[in-house]
Amino acid sequence: MSKVTYFSGESFPLEMHKVRIIQKLTLLPIEERLRAVEEAGYNTFLLQNSDVFLDMLTDSGVNAMSDRQQAAMLTADDAYAGSATFTRLHAKLQEVFGKKYFLPTHQGRAAEHILALGFVKPGMVVPTNYHFTTTKAHITAAGGEVVELIEPSGLAVTSDEKFKGNVDVAAFERLADERGAENIAFFRVEAGTNLVGGQPFSLANLRAVSHACRRRGVPLVMDASLLADNLYFVKAREPECADWSVADIWLAMSELCDVIYFSARKLGFGRGGGIITDDQKIYESLRAWVPMYEGFLTYGGMSVREMEAITVGLDETLDEDMINQGPLFIAHFVDEMDRRGIPVVTPAGGLGAHVDAMRFLDHVDQRYYPSGALAAAVYLASGVRGMERGTMSEQREPDGSEPLAHMELLRLALPRRVFTLSQVQYAVDRIHWLYANRRIVGGLEWTEEPEILRFFYGRLKPVGDWQHALVAKFREDFGASL
Ligand SMILES: *Cc1c(COP(=O)(O)O)cnc(C)c1O
Repeated sequence: MSKVTYFSGESFPLEMHKVRIIQKLTLLPIEERLRAVEEAGYNTFLLQNSDVFLDMLTDSGVNAMSDRQQAAMLTADDAYAGSATFTRLHAKLQEVFGKKYFLPTHQGRAAEHILALGFVKPGMVVPTNYHFTTTKAHITAAGGEVVELIEPSGLAVTSDEKFKGNVDVAAFERLADERGAENIAFFRVEAGTNLVGGQPFSLANLRAVSHACRRRGVPLVMDASLLADNLYFVKAREPECADWSVADIWLAMSELCDVIYFSARKLGFGRGGGIITDDQKIYESLRAWVPMYEGFLTYGGMSVREMEAITVGLDETLDEDMINQGPLFIAHFVDEMDRRGIPVVTPAGGLGAHVDAMRFLDHVDQRYYPSGALAAAVYLASGVRGMERGTMSEQREPDGSEPLAHMELLRLALPRRVFTLSQVQYAVDRIHWLYANRRIVGGLEWTEEPEILRFFYGRLKPVGDWQHALVAKFREDFGASL
């Protein structure tokens, strides 16, 4: 992707690739979308993909592969043990991370499982810039506690801070003094911090975290699932690194960490994951869990075809024209919404655009799930599927009370290399229309509320009858148009 300036003075993201395989999409009429969202209990996770026009639920495992990746998949060497495919992947990981050992896993959360088994004992604490859902689940299942130490700007919806994923290092020093370094299983730093809007940390901040960890003998573990975006942001936003290659920034970051793990559903445009380290003791202490839970040490639950795709995908991640595709597209999406007055998280991060449902639906009480209602309303207005990231995604306390989320966000993920600019323009237009008619939209209430991970499976219904009013207004404004 490059950012070109047009004769008019405006600039647009311009793809540095062309599309050679396509998948036909359907855009159902709004009456059909109403039927689909009713069947899904107003929960976008329960929509059938065939009823969705643009699927912006997630970027996980749905990024587009390149011709080179597809070609490499045909050359995969199918062997249980010692396949040449694994050797190629291992060599590529050694090149980009500069570390010797690699333990393959079937996806990112499996790496988290093994790290939790190896490092976390009951009562231990795992400080982090911000938690991720699956990470927290594995750490707490092992008896550990997750403590978030993100800089306060990371939780502000709009900000000028370039690195909203930065760690508050002084807060870490205080925590280590209070709890004792021996009770800290490891420090977990997440690149491209997912749940606060795909926001990066800086190389300078990672250096400070690394020094603090090394002084106290606390292992530093990086979740590199969203590293590609973070690499791009460091190059684009951190003056020290403006002239560095992506490969140099990658190695500099890796050098500061003791252990790195990743989901290849994001990093490397494939499906899989694994754990990387230079430390023989750590490698040997974790190794036994791989054949036990994942598969033999030369595949770890991944297919050889996927491993070939990751090897090439990592190579493409070194290419600045490739890794800036996501962030530049997302920045365009965010800017286009911002200039129409739609409240969005700024600055734009990686992963996707995040709409601030607290302001978009400021007339809807947080107990009636404004971000869940907005996700359903955006689907109705456009056929675009986003994901609720707010109070619905939290869990009730044991006494049945409901904690309200810090932020009520609608996440519109942009899988890499998948959508076109006209599709993004369409999404912006329909969300703009919805914003102009936002007072029609009301809240949601549960009809079935599961106790655990309710946002995945729970079913809801509108408070009142706002969905029919929205459909009627759509027909009034757009006539017979889809
Ligand atoms: C997706 C993700 C994971 C989990 O990876 P899976 O491959 O989905 O299991 C872990 N950490 C972060 C930051 C992620 O974005």
